[in-house]
Amino acid sequence: MTTLTMKFGGTSVGSAEAFTQAAGVVLEQAQKWDRLAVIVSAMSGVTDALIQGARTAASSDGRTYRAIVADLRVRHYRAVDALLTPDGERAQLLATVDDYLDEFAAFCRSVHILGEVTPRAMDAITSLGERISARILAAYLRRRGARSEAVDATELIVTDATFQNAVPLMEATRARIAARLSPLLDDGVIPVVTGFIGATEKGVTTTLGRGGSDYSAAILGDCLDADEVWTWTDVDGVMAADPRIVPDARVIPVLSYGEVSELAYFGAKVLHPRTIRPVVERSIPLWVKNTFNPTCPGTRIVREPESAPGTVKAVTAIEGLSMVTVEGRGMMGVPGIAARTFAAVASQDASVLMISQASSEQSICFIIPTPTVPPVIHALEEEMALELARRDIDQIRSLDDVVIVTAVGAGMRGTPGVASRIFGALGRGNINIIAIAQGSSECSVSLVVAADAAADAIQQIHSEVIING
Ligand code: ADP
Ligand code: ASP
Ligand code: MG
Repeated sequence: MTTLTMKFGGTSVGSAEAFTQAAGVVLEQAQKWDRLAVIVSAMSGVTDALIQGARTAASSDGRTYRAIVADLRVRHYRAVDALLTPDGERAQLLATVDDYLDEFAAFCRSVHILGEVTPRAMDAITSLGERISARILAAYLRRRGARSEAVDATELIVTDATFQNAVPLMEATRARIAARLSPLLDDGVIPVVTGFIGATEKGVTTTLGRGGSDYSAAILGDCLDADEVWTWTDVDGVMAADPRIVPDARVIPVLSYGEVSELAYFGAKVLHPRTIRPVVERSIPLWVKNTFNPTCPGTRIVREPESAPGTVKAVTAIEGLSMVTVEGRGMMGVPGIAARTFAAVASQDASVLMISQASSEQSICFIIPTPTVPPVIHALEEEMALELARRDIDQIRSLDDVVIVTAVGAGMRGTPGVASRIFGALGRGNINIIAIAQGSSECSVSLVVAADAAADAIQQIHSEVIING
């Protein structure tokens, strides 16, 4: 028995035309696989709009969310009107859209009165986009003659209570999926499951983090023991660089799980960074494909593709970062400074994206998101008060507006000279490198550069190391 799990991203259901295109893909694959499960994101821009509505409502602006409700109503109505007929499910679905948007407005009113939006409330609010889009796609598939049912992932994906970035509890999730989803699949029904969302054991709605529908698809793929997981998006696959920065970047036909993990972790938006974890364990092949160009094969992601030695396959970047440096001659040889530094950083819930320490032990520097800099510096100054007073530590400073640029390729492993090719390319482009780190997997090299040099650095690595490498 063959099983396929397919996820459609926001642009793939961003309009009536996109829904039609996505449904075409679903109906075609439904002919080819014994069991087909579909996961869907909110229509493009909807999650952003829901967040904006909640934030503005919380900050004493009682108008913006009303305008957003009106705008979301128009967008969803337009899609439903075009997709469903008056003698079919149209009226019912428009009423469903109204119900969810009324719920959104009610949440925003409460948030407005309270003057704050908790992560838990934010998850309840942002889950609404997927709840609506799944119902539209399922209804449209029924209109096209398929047996389909919308299913909320709150019934399937059990998570912890880390709102906005919840962690799935796989055992419980597997049991729910077996009980709720497998019978539908075995009966030939195509479930359309909401991406991005889950619920705690007690049933409180959570989300898996922005872009989390990819992760939902991988979780379902794992729990259904799928033969393959496909994610459908608006580009031809994973490309050698972000196409918005390098317009002529090419699609990479095959990547390893490790390479894709590095790419996603270091900023390539095309897949959520946690997507790989569930598929790795069962070696389930993952494909990234283009809804609007479905005959293009896309990118295949598997355990061990062949990699030519020394090959750099892709370059990516994370913006909005700062580099914090703790330095002082008195740090040399003092045990525990690094541990105390990172304990202080962790106490502020800041995620450290990269670390580098000078071998003389006179400085430790690390990269964190810019908004976390003030609390982190404050925590460090408290932790190191004694060392600062004694001048063992001279200063704790931050450099804002930096970007991590990462070159990825398993073929770098054990091949000398790749790093020097990257540095050479940046040198010829006159780009200053602020710090360097190599991933322990040896399938990536990361460099920190000033934000205004990032696009040049990416283009330079793309043209000199990837294309002409
Ligand atoms: P979806 O809504 O389908 O999940 P996303 O917007 O989350 O789509 O991700 C796809 C987008 O990721 C592309 O449109 C592209 O602009 C961006 N992107 C960034 N880096 C890459 C890359 N290396 N390869 C492909 N797309 C990339
Ligand atoms: N709709 C969610 C977001 O915009 C999840 C996703 O698109 O994957 O983040
Ligand atoms: Mg996405």
